[in-house]
Amino acid sequence: MNLHEYQAKRLFAEHGVPIPNGEVASTPAESREIARELGGRVVVKAQVLTGGRGKAGGVKLANDPDEAEKMASRILGLNIKNLIVRRVLIDEQAPGIEREIYLAVLIDRAKGLPMIMASAAGGMDIEEVAEKTPEKILKVHVEPALGVRSYQTTYLASMMDFPRGLWRDFHKLVVGLYKCFQANDASLTEINPLVITGEGKLLAVDGKMSIDDNALYRHKRLDEMRDLDEEPVSEREARMNGLNFIQLDGNIGCMVNGAGLAMATMDIIKLFGGEPANFLDIGGGAKAEQVTTALRLILSDPKVEAVLFNIFGGITRGDEVARGIIEALEQVKPEVPMVVRLVGTNAAEGIAILAEANMNTAVTLSDAARQAVAAAKGEAR
Ligand code: GDP
Ligand code: MN
Repeated sequence: MNLHEYQAKRLFAEHGVPIPNGEVASTPAESREIARELGGRVVVKAQVLTGGRGKAGGVKLANDPDEAEKMASRILGLNIKNLIVRRVLIDEQAPGIEREIYLAVLIDRAKGLPMIMASAAGGMDIEEVAEKTPEKILKVHVEPALGVRSYQTTYLASMMDFPRGLWRDFHKLVVGLYKCFQANDASLTEINPLVITGEGKLLAVDGKMSIDDNALYRHKRLDEMRDLDEEPVSEREARMNGLNFIQLDGNIGCMVNGAGLAMATMDIIKLFGGEPANFLDIGGGAKAEQVTTALRLILSDPKVEAVLFNIFGGITRGDEVARGIIEALEQVKPEVPMVVRLVGTNAAEGIAILAEANMNTAVTLSDAARQAVAAAKGEAR
């Protein structure tokens, strides 16, 4: 789950990270009032769960409350990467910006450790920096039992040519960001840019934070911060039905029981030159009703041009899934070709049910993927 900038920055502040004074508004009039309370010179920022708001016209400076109202009325309602701006953050302007730094704490999955990433080339698209000039990105791993050590932040500060007088504050800030990461079970806490102000102080001007969904059960407060408006409708519905569903960009819908099997299915689709439209794990022991919901979700994506079912019967019985598929077909009446591969418990019964309904079946996963890829390309099967 991703948090909005204003939510992330408030959590950062709880751990001592310096952030600008600010408040959220949902109308231009409210924005004006907040700007007045903050002394007039503010920055008006779209609160949508995507990066690059600056480039999209979602971040504007204002020098007095009148201007803040005007900027807010321009930004509210704006469409940024298909997200409608419903709220703006009104922040006090940074007192001059000398430098823009990138700073983040995230998980390095390969090493299985938290990692601090920093770059003197902050403010811009960090993915681009990582691609074109990877040497400009500094990385330091954190041993969880020890936490952030001062030699590590000294290394980062000196490599980025920070003035010596800022090293101590930088250390405190990194420790704060790391503690915020750890305390909230985050998978990312990011400041881009962290600025050095004209007064020579550090200030987190932007904030981004992702929380590990699997840890939300122990962070009720964070769970309540979820912005339902920004979550794809399909993912919300899946969550409410106990399905693990992630929308992707391809055109082959996938319905699979088991997360590992779903990953393997996606890999094989790619191996045969196709692109998966989603990740979907219907879980063990899925009943016909869940299969119906899952198929409806897959088909609600207009990009989907073929569907591949890869079911391994274990606790989930093949005939149960087959009945679920038939039931789903009656309800949603799909117009795209489908391929089913069904093995394991009650597979024969399941395949018999599907064959009766004229469904394409495959024996091996390769065969199924090949068929699905061909079908999605509109080739004869
Ligand atoms: P993003 O584009 O979604 O990453 O939004 P940011 O919050 O990072 O803002 C984009 C850019 O606007 C920053 O890199 C800064 O250059 C600028 N900006 C943000 N806040 C301020 C501010 O308080 N004062 C000034 N002068 N510029 C700001
Ligand atoms: Mn930013």
